[in-house]
Amino acid sequence: MTEASPGADALWQGGWYRFARRLDSPNFGARPAGAQIDLVVLHSISLPPGRYGGDEVERLFTNSLDWDAHPYFQQIRGMEVSAHFYVRRDGTLWQFVDCEARAWHAGASAWRGRENCNDDSIGIELEGLEGQPFEAVQYEALAGLLPALAQRYPLAHVAGHEHIAPGRKQDPGAGFDWSELRRQLAWPDAMFPAHVLAH
Ligand SMILES: [Zn+2]
Repeated sequence: MTEASPGADALWQGGWYRFARRLDSPNFGARPAGAQIDLVVLHSISLPPGRYGGDEVERLFTNSLDWDAHPYFQQIRGMEVSAHFYVRRDGTLWQFVDCEARAWHAGASAWRGRENCNDDSIGIELEGLEGQPFEAVQYEALAGLLPALAQRYPLAHVAGHEHIAPGRKQDPGAGFDWSELRRQLAWPDAMFPAHVLAH
């Protein structure tokens, strides 16, 4: 457990961010003892892919999606997944899993010399589609959330799912503007994947 810095209580109730809409997912487990939560993993998702504004993602993360509602859902039928956070196209922020717990977003993965990134990362999904741009308010939401996370956890790395599971995952993809995120956060270059620093 990380020692909370002064002011953190204003932002956090345990591992729940006070400024997110809370919707509890059953898809989580315990982190390994002594897990050093130092990584944020960014993802993109929309269901069906490319259609925005519905509640299908919230339903997926709470195991209440109607698998028969769209042909695409057959490909993910029965999937039990979650992320800690979800940022809608309008900037609305949802939280599904206590940050103290292990959410199910990364799958087989490795970063900063450690495997199974679900063990010691925070997962954030952005409503979007790989290759397509994201909304300004989504970057603003990240620019509020990531520093709040850094007050509570010793964040040292921010990466995309595509970086921690190369070849297997492509999200958030080329439409995600890493330079805009870096500009808003003003965090050290060393916290970001080398691949994104040149852009
Ligand atoms: Zn992903």
